[in-house]
Amino acid sequence: MSWRCQRIGTSAPRLLTGAPAAGRRLVCALALLLPSASSSSLSQLPNRSALPIVDSRIALAQALKGSRAPARIRRSLAIVTVRYISFDGKRHQGQVVVRKDLAREVAAIFRDLEKARFPIKKVVPVVRYGWSDDRSMADNNTSGFNYRNKPWERGLSRHAHGAAIDINPMQNPYVRAGKRLPPGSKRNPRARGTILEGPVVRAFIRRGWRWGGHFRGEKDWQHFDKPGRRARE
Ligand SMILES: [Zn+2]
Repeated sequence: MSWRCQRIGTSAPRLLTGAPAAGRRLVCALALLLPSASSSSLSQLPNRSALPIVDSRIALAQALKGSRAPARIRRSLAIVTVRYISFDGKRHQGQVVVRKDLAREVAAIFRDLEKARFPIKKVVPVVRYGWSDDRSMADNNTSGFNYRNKPWERGLSRHAHGAAIDINPMQNPYVRAGKRLPPGSKRNPRARGTILEGPVVRAFIRRGWRWGGHFRGEKDWQHFDKPGRRARE
């Protein structure tokens, strides 16, 4: 019956912010109790290998633990469960923390990326890396919210407001004035996981996001952000 739970989970934005998720868990729990489960033949049971590999499944409170973000920002955030094809060619499930009002479109963007079969190494909240963007990038992790400054200059990054996402940093470096982040990263347009003009960029742009590959004077190939209105602070 896990197949049924999975289908229920994918039919709606997968936001683990409270009642809807709890409701889905209840539906799944009830589905497990249905008598029809016992009448299914073994051949009809789902292939467990079709279930995604879970890279992250934590609650929002855990995902924000230890962050220096002020309460007004913490209150504006949601954790979004997303699925993607990783570099092993298998479906994975991870989570990204973004501003609440962006959560639905972020879920839709990741669905577009999965449809395009764009490989993403992993999507894990930065709390797992002790809030170190360097450690998260070195692990080629795709991340959203992190209450931090911009590298190489003063001021908060848009990641600090949950309005930015960095994807596959090792294949998509941040390059500026001869410097690059993360160390050891390399942009090779033919390498898997490299962001090029195409369906990945379109998935963001059509929803009003910017791509750092379009920046002038610097290239932040891994970076997408949503300009404009910020969460109330
Ligand atoms: Zn970024």
